[in-house]
Amino acid sequence: MTTRRLTLVVAATLGLVLSAPAAAQTSNPETARALVSLAKYEERVAHIGERLSLAAAQAGWCSGGYSVGWALGEVGQYPKNLRQAVRMQWSIPSGANLFVTAVAPGSPAAEAGITVGTGIVSIEGRAPMRNTYMMPSPHAREASERLIDRSLAEGPLDVVVLGADGFRRTLALAPRATCLTRFLVGADNEEQAYADGENVLVTAGMGEFTGDNEQELAAVIAHELAHNILRHVARTEEAGTPDNYTRFLRRYLNINRSMEEEADRLSVWLLQLAGYDPTAPVTFWERFGPGHDSAHPFGRTHDRWQDRVTALQNEIAAMQAAKAADANARPALLDRADDVPVPGDRPVISQPVPAS
Ligand SMILES: [Zn+2]
Repeated sequence: MTTRRLTLVVAATLGLVLSAPAAAQTSNPETARALVSLAKYEERVAHIGERLSLAAAQAGWCSGGYSVGWALGEVGQYPKNLRQAVRMQWSIPSGANLFVTAVAPGSPAAEAGITVGTGIVSIEGRAPMRNTYMMPSPHAREASERLIDRSLAEGPLDVVVLGADGFRRTLALAPRATCLTRFLVGADNEEQAYADGENVLVTAGMGEFTGDNEQELAAVIAHELAHNILRHVARTEEAGTPDNYTRFLRRYLNINRSMEEEADRLSVWLLQLAGYDPTAPVTFWERFGPGHDSAHPFGRTHDRWQDRVTALQNEIAAMQAAKAADANARPALLDRADDVPVPGDRPVISQPVPAS
């Protein structure tokens, strides 16, 4: 769902130049700006996501993921007439379609000398799948990521990388345990973030809203990662669908609000754990809330932003008291990750859980 959305939003935002003549594409200032913004937030979101995910896994708050500290892109996930501009933006060497969009500092990928723009030309002895069709699609990148995930679960990853200088190197990258979540950026001006159980997607618009305030962007990502750690989408599906539509709507609104509160509360702990400012969600909502208060014809899917700020402040105080008593205190919320909501009372949510 999320990755499908990524393709669509890339096409939508950059689609203005789809009919432009080939020579004009890379010099179109709007396209160039969109790609620069996308590259910037792909790197930033990957760094923050890796840091939160690694800290949570080290604390035993999540499991199931393995990472070498990079994020990947594939030229064919972009519209065909933008692919040359994409190659230039990331300095992708010719001969490579799969490339690195971010490298977390201190990660196995960084220590192996991999940098943004490095091409990947072999994974476990196989050439990465390419999307050579006109239609942009993330499927080739996702196939490579699945192959990499399977390999990392077994041990070091054997890859052949291609640098901008055309130099090929064979590497064995050791995995680090992380949460089972991938961090993605959508080229969309809408200020949004989503979690679908396995992915966290932040739009470039949300990146722009947080500007250069890394703490606030971390607050957004921690909230979405908390949804995945608490298995909100899976737990809702496990509980089944009520047969009565009125009941469905009423329950949907109540459940969604309680899941949002859980994600807010856990986000504070995740931020503290990873060395970010746990009060950043408060300052984020004080800026974001007034222009983005949620409204729904049938009722609220989220609490008023002022109430969310109060709940966040209460959780920060509770966390600080718990940590004063025990430096290794963990949030009791984590124990709810295996709970199934009341059977029959909770609807299936087929959409990713929105951030606001
Ligand atoms: Zn949420």
